[in-house]
Amino acid sequence: MSALTDKELLRYSRQILLDDWDLEAQIRLKNSTALIVGLGGLGCPVSQILARAGVGRLHLVDFDVIDESNLQRQTLFFEADVGKSKVKTAHKRLREHNELIAIDHTETKLTAENLPKLLTQVSPDLVIDCTDNFSVRDLLNKSCRALGVPLLSNSAIGEVGQIALFTKETGCYQCLFGEEGGDEQTCATSGVLASTVSVIGSMAAQVALDFLGRGRNPIAGKLVLWQGRTMTLRNVQFAQDELCAACSG
Ligand SMILES: [Zn+2]
Repeated sequence: MSALTDKELLRYSRQILLDDWDLEAQIRLKNSTALIVGLGGLGCPVSQILARAGVGRLHLVDFDVIDESNLQRQTLFFEADVGKSKVKTAHKRLREHNELIAIDHTETKLTAENLPKLLTQVSPDLVIDCTDNFSVRDLLNKSCRALGVPLLSNSAIGEVGQIALFTKETGCYQCLFGEEGGDEQTCATSGVLASTVSVIGSMAAQVALDFLGRGRNPIAGKLVLWQGRTMTLRNVQFAQDELCAACSG
């Protein structure tokens, strides 16, 4: 593992100062790779926080272009960016956040064919699902599980959101939601309050930093549920489904 330079010690000093976040945690963070799928409402705050905090390498994946209706909540993009590539614009902005980390990107729509190749090529310590599409969620769950890659799964819609971190010690997305996978609502059809994605994105970043820096899963076996209208946060326990086709046997 490579150590921290003087510039990095200064840049991350407010984290290293923490009682339970020592130099070792910061070095582990520097030597870790996060693959972020989706640079929309959730992907923006997640990637911004991880870039600033010093995750050593970020690999960004998206296929979309920036739309006028994205500007209400997607914090990496400005008015002049409408029509431009999301992943390329995000890459450029994140570079301006922190020049001390490595950033790369793949501009593609993930499929059952290209995802395993991408995971093998990038070799991430954590995949962070920031999409709002069930078929991609299901694809990420199956591929991550097959290759033993931890998956931080997030969703935000309306004023509600949820977060779970699936590792080989826990069940998977399919254990929780079944093969059909819950309802296929998207922000485009159901709407989303601007703050919801930042709340969920920030909490997902907290889980990612803990996992990559300290090597612990603070929500092992739990689904975190946020209800913005009542400002309520709830944890629901879930177990591995012994019959789950994605993660058992
Ligand atoms: Zn499972």
